[in-house]
Amino acid sequence: MEFNTKVIHGGQQHDPSTGAVMPPIYQTSTYAQSSPGKHKGYEYSRTANPTRTALEKALASIENGNFGLAFGSGLAAIDAVAKLLKPGDEVISTNDLYGGTYRLFTKIFEIFGIKFHFIGMDNADNIAKYINKNTKMIWVETPTNPMLNIIDIEAVVNIAKLNKLLLVVDNTFATPYLQLPLDLGADIVMHSATKYLGGHSDVVMGALIVNDEKLAEEIYRIQNSSGAICGPQDSFLVLRGIKTLHLRVQRHCENGEAIAKWLANHPKVDKVYWPGFESHPNHDIAKKQMRGFGGMISFTLKGNSLEESHEIVAKVKIFCLAESLGGVESLIGHPATMTHASIPKEEREKSGVVDSLIRLSVGVEDIEDLIADLDNAMA
Ligand SMILES: *Cc1c(COP(=O)(O)O)cnc(C)c1O
Repeated sequence: MEFNTKVIHGGQQHDPSTGAVMPPIYQTSTYAQSSPGKHKGYEYSRTANPTRTALEKALASIENGNFGLAFGSGLAAIDAVAKLLKPGDEVISTNDLYGGTYRLFTKIFEIFGIKFHFIGMDNADNIAKYINKNTKMIWVETPTNPMLNIIDIEAVVNIAKLNKLLLVVDNTFATPYLQLPLDLGADIVMHSATKYLGGHSDVVMGALIVNDEKLAEEIYRIQNSSGAICGPQDSFLVLRGIKTLHLRVQRHCENGEAIAKWLANHPKVDKVYWPGFESHPNHDIAKKQMRGFGGMISFTLKGNSLEESHEIVAKVKIFCLAESLGGVESLIGHPATMTHASIPKEEREKSGVVDSLIRLSVGVEDIEDLIADLDNAMA
């Protein structure tokens, strides 16, 4: 099956009892047994629920994996991955990392004796310096937020395999439509399904997809033991969202490209961060491992004025000033005072999050309206 067919049919079957084309929302906590221990594959909805099972099969299918697991949020999924580790273990992670992931690693798992190294992975050779006998895992996020840096997944795969390390890729920004980390040799793909997979800004969810059966069993054991599952209604919503993933991401890419190019020619704009530009430092890697460049764009203003950037994000009418990303509607954000406000000014400026940086999650509206909206706000 090709990708566009998979998002609609992958792992799916019509409901065997009624023929319903979509799986029902099995809003149930438990399942009748005919005699003790004798049941139809479902005992209790933390352990498994048929609506969640349908979603998990779809997740596995679209990421070209053998096993999918759905969680109550992206962070719950990351939490389950970190629980594969034990005290004394070390993790090498991208430094330009989603803030919530950084907080979970440093404020929760460091307390339990796990050590994290946050490093630049633009050059994958950097990683080798941090590997020692305690290293167990490499954590990669690409493209990164909000600077849209690109990490060469294949180069990191080679290092991980050579040193027998688990490689996890947060594929939230790219989606499986643009990038398939398992095909490149990663061990675990992670998603905040809250973003593009759900796609409609109406649900918070996380996902993990793996190929190895032993690893899947281990993660399932953690999921069932810790209990950070998602409910049947949310499972249904994300399954529904996935069915239009290919169409939405195509349009996100088209609109993203048009806006990136428009911004690059705007007299008030200083830098535009978008991996589709040939001038982007990792453009060649993006071209190699991604099918398109996505709808996430960041840009700065000449003069780097905080006030001016605040005026722009407040003045837009179609773009909505809000956190999150990946929904059908266009969102605008100001990282220095929103998502990255907790990072000291000096630290965030080192990675490029300056006062005038504005981040766009370009939606799937008409491009003329989006550009007119930005044009008006920036006038
Ligand atoms: C949002 C996000 C997360 C966290 O997911 P939640 O669903 O908000 O818990 C992790 N990684 C990336 C890249 C994200 O954008």
